[in-house]
Amino acid sequence: MSNVDQSEIDKFSALAHRWWDPTSEFKPLHAINPLRLGWIESITALSGKKVLDVGCGGGILAESLSKAGGIVTGIDLSAKALKVAELHQLESGTSVRYRSIAAEDLAKEEPEQYDVVTCMEMLEHVPDPSSVVQACASLCKPGGNIFFSTLNRNPKSYLFAIIGAEYILKLLPKGTHEYDKFIKPSELANFTRQAGLELNDIKGMTYNPITQIYRLGSDTDVNYMIATRKP
Ligand code: SAH
Repeated sequence: MSNVDQSEIDKFSALAHRWWDPTSEFKPLHAINPLRLGWIESITALSGKKVLDVGCGGGILAESLSKAGGIVTGIDLSAKALKVAELHQLESGTSVRYRSIAAEDLAKEEPEQYDVVTCMEMLEHVPDPSSVVQACASLCKPGGNIFFSTLNRNPKSYLFAIIGAEYILKLLPKGTHEYDKFIKPSELANFTRQAGLELNDIKGMTYNPITQIYRLGSDTDVNYMIATRKP
């Protein structure tokens, strides 16, 4: 497998035992989860749908997709994160199927098998994000929905996502994100177009450090999500 940065996987593995601690390094993912789930559900129903969560980590989004009625598969390449995800299900009672496999490899095994594909906060950790976007497109059934989120690349996102989040507010460990791997919406839109997807919606996510509240809106300068559809 070539489209994997082992140092990225190791970073997440080292923290995996704290994945479900809402005060830990994963606090931002816990905080944004209801927002992104609500947005996904505003675009597509999940009940009874076959859903794939790519780069699922410890399963924060995957479990919520399952609770919303989806028949969910979660894939990641961090064995530790997947172990945590499996263990957490014993508590939560969800039945996500977790697998350690790259999106590109699953796309060969299960082409066009999923109604909904999500790939959140993951593209900025892989060497070739366009290859993951292509794999997500291959995994999706015609007519299905694919959702991506990542970090924009500009001076403001450097200031907020790296200096602010890692050095000032210490929401994330130093080195969590690499500026060069951030992806502009225009670049992500290009990847999705090359993969034959239609772009349906784009939403920004902003964080207010005073109120500690995340909001969805039109400001895509730092965190953003896009909704696409496979024709
Ligand atoms: N999508 C989850 C977790 C985001 S953290 C959420 O938003 O809640 C990023 C995850 O991407 C980590 O679990 C990490 O192990 C995974 N990851 C990084 N590179 C990967 C790759 N090449 N293939 C699969 N997963 C990868």
